[in-house]
Amino acid sequence: MENDRKKMEIPLIRPFMPKQEDYCKEISSLWETRSLTNMAPKHQQLERELKTYLDAAHLQLFANGHGALECLLQAFDLKGEVITTPFTFASTIHAIVRSGLKPVFCDIRQDDFTMDVSKVEELITERTVALLPVHVYGMACDVERLQQIADRHGLKVIYDAAHAFGVRVKGRGIASFGDASMFSLHATKIYHTVEGGAVAFREESLDKKLAAIRDFGLTSTETVDYVGCNSKMDEFRAAMGLCNLRQIDEILQQRKKAGEQYDQRLSGLKQIQILPQQKEVTRNYAYYPIVLQKSPLSREDLQRSLAQHGVHTRKYFYPLCCDFSCYRETFGAVEVPVARYVSEHVLCLPMYYGITEEEIDFICDLIQELVTTCGKRGCWQ
Ligand SMILES: *Cc1c(COP(=O)(O)O)cnc(C)c1O
Repeated sequence: MENDRKKMEIPLIRPFMPKQEDYCKEISSLWETRSLTNMAPKHQQLERELKTYLDAAHLQLFANGHGALECLLQAFDLKGEVITTPFTFASTIHAIVRSGLKPVFCDIRQDDFTMDVSKVEELITERTVALLPVHVYGMACDVERLQQIADRHGLKVIYDAAHAFGVRVKGRGIASFGDASMFSLHATKIYHTVEGGAVAFREESLDKKLAAIRDFGLTSTETVDYVGCNSKMDEFRAAMGLCNLRQIDEILQQRKKAGEQYDQRLSGLKQIQILPQQKEVTRNYAYYPIVLQKSPLSREDLQRSLAQHGVHTRKYFYPLCCDFSCYRETFGAVEVPVARYVSEHVLCLPMYYGITEEEIDFICDLIQELVTTCGKRGCWQ
């Protein structure tokens, strides 16, 4: 690669920030009210607004997405095996294992990296209690067929929707599918409350129990009915959530524009697989992963080369969860060839609110040049 190319510094992710004065205005009342946490007014308002925005039947806020998932698994009172995929963030599997459940790894689909529905039923045993598929990168799982399988076998469907904020399927918010969905509202996600999480769920009967588990298991000041934890969201974070929700349309619009520019620039390269446009799904472009296929250059070389030009990428998700040292011996003996291939060839490109057209062009020019010409030149020495 020529040495005179302009260098840029392009991070992988940059958290969204509301206008400073908007946030200051939103929190100013707290100095008077001193209602700082414990399901205070901003918390309540954000729960209402998110429930509507996400099309959830019921919704509760949490201190973070991981804690939300653990509380949810506890509230469902599950014991046994949970079918999930190894192509996800560590949190998904840790939540299952920390809840005393056994993760059973299902392979993923080659095209959109979600749970391969055709391989689920062969993994179901008499111990299976739930499916925990991941809307990975904001790709919608096959929600209808997963529900059919769950109904046939009497299983819960709990989605890790950490990446799926704002995704819609056939015009319906993704939170309206399955028994429940966990959303992460972490700073690096599309929509955030700095740290935070939300659970959308269908059954009203879960409402009181889940809320109690989030708050030390207390059902009143003098009754403790569950072995709970503390996973409450405070008012400063709820205020951040209220500010950011006012800009969610603009956030999604800008990501769509950036994502479509990547799509347009990279879809013609046969050395690269990009995410598909799923039928009847409104995307959120939460991440922009590429999977190298038949590329003369390795993912590691591509990552290194991009980094030399200031373009920061991440092997997300590598390694697979079943290969973690903490799980290899216990749950790791699984055949997941597709997940393995994708994990070994995937690279997430910079994607965030505020990335410019010029930056995406710069990244795509580099990638195009690297994957198409370098193999021939043997320029990796
Ligand atoms: C971010 C993330 C989580 C955890 O959410 P936190 O809010 O960071 O606790 C869980 N699963 C997936 C797939 C994630 O990306």
